[in-house]
Amino acid sequence: MAGGPIGQQRRAVVVGAGIAGLTAAIALQQRGWQVEVLERATEVGPAGSGLSLWPNGLRGLDAIGAGAGVREQALSATEAGMRDPSGRWLARTDIAGFRERYGDLVLIHRTGLFEVLRRALGDGPLTLGAAVHSVVVTEGGVRVEHSLGTSTAGLVLGADGINSTVRALHWPDAPPPAYAGYTAWRAIVTPRGPVTSGGETIGRGERFGIAPLRDGRVYFYGAADQPAGASSPDGELAELRRRFGTWHDPIPGLLAATDPATLLRHDIYELPRLRSYTRGPIALLGDAAHAMTPNLGQGANLAIEDAVTAAALLDRHSDIATALTAYDRLRRARVEPLQRLSRRTGIALQLSWAPAVLLRDAFMRIAPVGPALRGLAPVLNWDPPTG
Ligand SMILES: Cc1cc2nc3c(=O)[nH]c(=O)nc-3n(C[C@H](O)[C@H](O)[C@H](O)COP(=O)(O)OP(=O)(O)OC[C@H]3O[C@@H](n4cnc5c(N)ncnc54)[C@H](O)[C@@H]3O)c2cc1C
Repeated sequence: MAGGPIGQQRRAVVVGAGIAGLTAAIALQQRGWQVEVLERATEVGPAGSGLSLWPNGLRGLDAIGAGAGVREQALSATEAGMRDPSGRWLARTDIAGFRERYGDLVLIHRTGLFEVLRRALGDGPLTLGAAVHSVVVTEGGVRVEHSLGTSTAGLVLGADGINSTVRALHWPDAPPPAYAGYTAWRAIVTPRGPVTSGGETIGRGERFGIAPLRDGRVYFYGAADQPAGASSPDGELAELRRRFGTWHDPIPGLLAATDPATLLRHDIYELPRLRSYTRGPIALLGDAAHAMTPNLGQGANLAIEDAVTAAALLDRHSDIATALTAYDRLRRARVEPLQRLSRRTGIALQLSWAPAVLLRDAFMRIAPVGPALRGLAPVLNWDPPTG
């Protein structure tokens, strides 16, 4: 089947209204596709955490006209780098040099990003409470069955996250997500005093990240080596205070301002490499295709890239099969090295053996800023395909 009969050809079902699904739906809609987005949750957009959007992701959002709205809700990074638990800087990012070379790096509350994407999509295409359980390729296109009924299309985009149903149905031999060996806590808090400096503080098998947001609130995360599925008997906030309560300011203050009910904890998983992101008229996007560890802060940025790339290629090529072959080739070449880099970065940042930690920190202190900045080029130099 190369695209389905007339009538289904420019009709797509997008499974999942996360960042990948919403961006893809907007991009396709702008190119004249009829799009239906099926989302199993009854609300769109996770609460309670922030997101770094890098120049590559922002260029993807610009391509769908959402960049300005997102920048309005976001805060440009002013200071970033790595510190040790006493607060001593190990490496500082030259933000002015970064911006000049690559463009903006912003921090946003996820809710703000979802608001912008929802507005750009409009209410029409989105069906909430529709959990997809079957995706069948037929002679006439693809039939998608979900908890609210059946939808048909010429193309299905599986943007349904790390535990993707679409992937389970059509990539039955794909290995399951693998535990990275560490867990992450996240929260957004209103600090007692202003916090303007962001960045990450690295210890032994533990780290803490701070990202000031536009409205004065602060997004923070902590990460620690832990067995999968572990939880803290006296509560997650108590565990965070035990681990990070004596680290440098403003960390103790951020923990003091944390409402335990809003603290999120997730074990970090990544998806082993898939041999292909497409099967016939079905393509995977975002975490469904390549969930990675969050060490580069790129998962959502790459999901945005996937979405605008898929839409541009589907527009450029007259049949879906050719477009998806090009999508698969381009996106795997782009994403796979970053998935590996993210994994390696995580290993370095989670080191716990004292001599290795000493060496790592010493290396960071002496490493020159220029090459470090230039080293980001393979991650950040990406432009949406034209046409
Ligand atoms: C601790 C942590 C920090 C991170 N920080 C950053 C960061 O700073 N910057 C960054 O770029 N990335 C970051 N990421 C990664 C980023 O969050 C993800 O890569 C991104 O959210 C993936 O978006 P997605 O749309 O592919 O998937 P998801 O956000 O998982 O969306 C999938 C959607 O599909 C829906 N769905 C699932 N199954 C079905 C079904 N059967 N039927 C219908 N709907 C379904 C779900 O309800 C959900 O709405 C971080 C991740 C973690 C864990």
